[in-house]
Amino acid sequence: MKIQIPKGTFDILPYGAPEEWQLSCLWQYAEKVIRETAADYGYREIRTPIYERTELFQRGVGETTDIVMKEMFTFEDRSKRSLSLRPEGTASVARAFVEHNLSQLGSTHKFFYIGPMFRYERPQSGRYRQHHQFGVEAYGVSGPQQDAEVIDLLLQVYKRLGLKNLKVHVNSVGDLESRKDYRAALLHYLKPHFHELSADSQARFEKNPLRILDSKDPHDKEIVQAAPSILNHLTPEAKEHFQTLCSLLDQIGISYEVDDKIVRGLDYYQKTVFEVMTEDLGAQNTIGAGGRYDGLIGQFEGPDLPAIGFATGLERVLQVMMAQKIMTPKGKRPLIYFIPIGEEAVQKCFALVAACRHNHIAADIELQAKKVPAAIQNGLRAEAKYCCILGSDELQSGKAKLKDLSTREEKPILLDQIIQALRGLC
Ligand code: ATP
Ligand code: MG
Repeated sequence: MKIQIPKGTFDILPYGAPEEWQLSCLWQYAEKVIRETAADYGYREIRTPIYERTELFQRGVGETTDIVMKEMFTFEDRSKRSLSLRPEGTASVARAFVEHNLSQLGSTHKFFYIGPMFRYERPQSGRYRQHHQFGVEAYGVSGPQQDAEVIDLLLQVYKRLGLKNLKVHVNSVGDLESRKDYRAALLHYLKPHFHELSADSQARFEKNPLRILDSKDPHDKEIVQAAPSILNHLTPEAKEHFQTLCSLLDQIGISYEVDDKIVRGLDYYQKTVFEVMTEDLGAQNTIGAGGRYDGLIGQFEGPDLPAIGFATGLERVLQVMMAQKIMTPKGKRPLIYFIPIGEEAVQKCFALVAACRHNHIAADIELQAKKVPAAIQNGLRAEAKYCCILGSDELQSGKAKLKDLSTREEKPILLDQIIQALRGLC
């Protein structure tokens, strides 16, 4: 029996991918744009292991979250330690930051990461068991300028990738005091509706009623429509933080909607939370989300530093790009495809193709096809710009023809000056 890929995962292929967004050139392009944009905002890359001790996520993400309760890939290693594939990046970055005492090297820190995350979910379009996230973490600044910066960075990445028609929703979930006050008001409102709520929401009623606002159940959504707004329960400090954030976003030309139903699924959020939505993906309409989590680093016995971050799913970003028919540049393709005819020509071409490559000119050579038309087909498949057919005549005269594979035009070329000639065509 053929062994197949695990459910909910996919391959990223150079060609022949079942769906266009699974082509590796798109991933390389998106990652390049992301890295450049992150650098423009002063964020530096951090890479953490793809698995961690399970307690890290229990403590960092929260025991009552869907991610920890239902979605983690948890296993024991041979020494019976419980490990989990990372379901998200924030807890790992905080752990690494504390473990390496990076706080001693400065008072503010800005990191970004790109990599695979693992969640045991029901696979469907836009929802996978291995997906990839680009995320940032900014530590040390408590003021709303930091919140505005990360939102701007996220939107700038989308803009540079060409994404259109995105909606930015922002909210404040307040500080601990605001939430305590709001929790009481929310419970009071929800109580008469308790029996109509979905089972999930009923389970959250006592433990974490705010998350009922985030429910995907249609009837729950109707019920919470008329729920009291957290924005009316903010402490003066949380309120000022939110108002300043909104005016900063106005100032730098970011349009957004204040949406008091956004709470985010993770337990660690405080004050600002935000999501970026698209209408081009069907059910999975959130492409990126984040917020502030000022208490998180302290939870890992690190310094009590304020923190904010976001994560965006690369699959969903690429799917929106494909839905919006955004053109992307291709990766490097061969400038020249050598087609040798006969043994002697193979030897000569092999030296030529090596010389091109040693001079940073992308080049390839036909080593298998016996007939010229088949070799040209291979050159076209490799997306080479030119091909050069070398037989005994060309070898004797030292002159050959460079054939443009798309226009079919030919120009003469001297074999002993081929590198200079090709350089002029790069
Ligand atoms: P959702 O509400 O769609 O389940 P989430 O709140 O669980 O999302 P986050 O934990 O905020 O998502 O993850 C950040 C981003 O990662 C999401 O906005 C989304 O783009 C992407 N993402 C999350 N889970 C998946 C998944 N299973 N497959 C693909 N992308 C995902
Ligand atoms: Mg989820």
